[in-house]
Amino acid sequence: MSGMTDPIYLDNNATTRLAPEALAEMLPWLGDQFGNAGSAHALGRLAEGAVVVARERASALLGCAPAELVFNGGGTEGINHAFRGVFEAFPAKRHFVTTAVEHSAVLAVADDLRRRGAEVTVLGVDGEGRLDLAGLEAALRPDTALVSLMAANNETGVIFPLEEAARLVKGRGVLLHVDATQALGKVPFDAGRLGADLASFSAHKFHGPKGVGGLFIRRGLRLRPFMTGGGQERGRRGGTLNVPGIVGLGKAAELALAHLPAMAEVAARRDRLEAAVLGGIPGTRVNGAGAPRVPNTSMVSFRDVEGEAVLLRLDQAGICVSTGSACTTGQREPSHVLRAMGVPPAEAMGSVRFSLSRYTTDAEIARVLETLPAILDELRAQGPLGRR
Ligand code: PLP
Repeated sequence: MSGMTDPIYLDNNATTRLAPEALAEMLPWLGDQFGNAGSAHALGRLAEGAVVVARERASALLGCAPAELVFNGGGTEGINHAFRGVFEAFPAKRHFVTTAVEHSAVLAVADDLRRRGAEVTVLGVDGEGRLDLAGLEAALRPDTALVSLMAANNETGVIFPLEEAARLVKGRGVLLHVDATQALGKVPFDAGRLGADLASFSAHKFHGPKGVGGLFIRRGLRLRPFMTGGGQERGRRGGTLNVPGIVGLGKAAELALAHLPAMAEVAARRDRLEAAVLGGIPGTRVNGAGAPRVPNTSMVSFRDVEGEAVLLRLDQAGICVSTGSACTTGQREPSHVLRAMGVPPAEAMGSVRFSLSRYTTDAEIARVLETLPAILDELRAQGPLGRR
């Protein structure tokens, strides 16, 4: 941290600030109202009532019936439940389809299933991060169990054409899982209208608490429970419910839905940031700019610098961002998303992701624009790959 009191937080695709209204609704459930939602007495019934309200609010954001929503520990768990649940429920179907730009939670569970006998087709994307629908159609087989597609990419913000994809997938009688983690609260989403069978999400990406989320399981689809236990969540996920977390998730979902129209203002701020960066700093490119994107995300590549060095300098100035690279085995490597888009490694290493939220102000964007050009000048003056 910079030591400054109020950092400018532009890393909202990593996690978001808890909405004050969600915190206020959570507090009683961490205090006097500590009942188990499964208990029959007054305290238990109070907790159960709060979970019912949260389930209604969350299912409104997701576009499903309350009974179709399983509360869990977040996006990673929902993804694991979807893949492993389908793998176990349909032993005659061993083919899975996903894309090269999915979150590591998807890629890792797909790898694990591959080791256990599944065949996985990983679809590529074009230079703008767009999915090739013809490639998707060609990948579908009679033994395809599941297609898993992200609604929006966490690094670039690129939105996949889910309606067209769902038509293709459902037309072939294949199950569809959508990783909606980066879409909820940013763009309208409707799992039911889409015809998805499964959709996973995490509360902390839309100003809810961390470690709590949900999985939509279409009515009638029977998967093995992710965890067996006390029969909670209609036997689909055992374990005492995280009542404060679920209450916070519910309130955050209600707020996210109400604020959706205002995301146009976030897009306008993001677009102003991009225009000023592209116009004012030479050797700059926005990844995925040619594709539809969520309103808050801008993944910028700066030529001849390391994104990590830009991140550190911005951090010293009290500005939080992230990079388009990942640290694997002690070495920084270009992100798998940018690699799949064919971004040259040197350019990918110079990438910085700005992700805004509905709390981001014009004054904060102005501060970033005052700070960034000097950082780039300084790093580029240090040599071909700006050192720290
Ligand atoms: N899917 C996407 C697209 C994400 O961005 C994330 C989080 O970064 C996840 C899944 C996993 O969510 P969680 O870490 O909350 O389990």
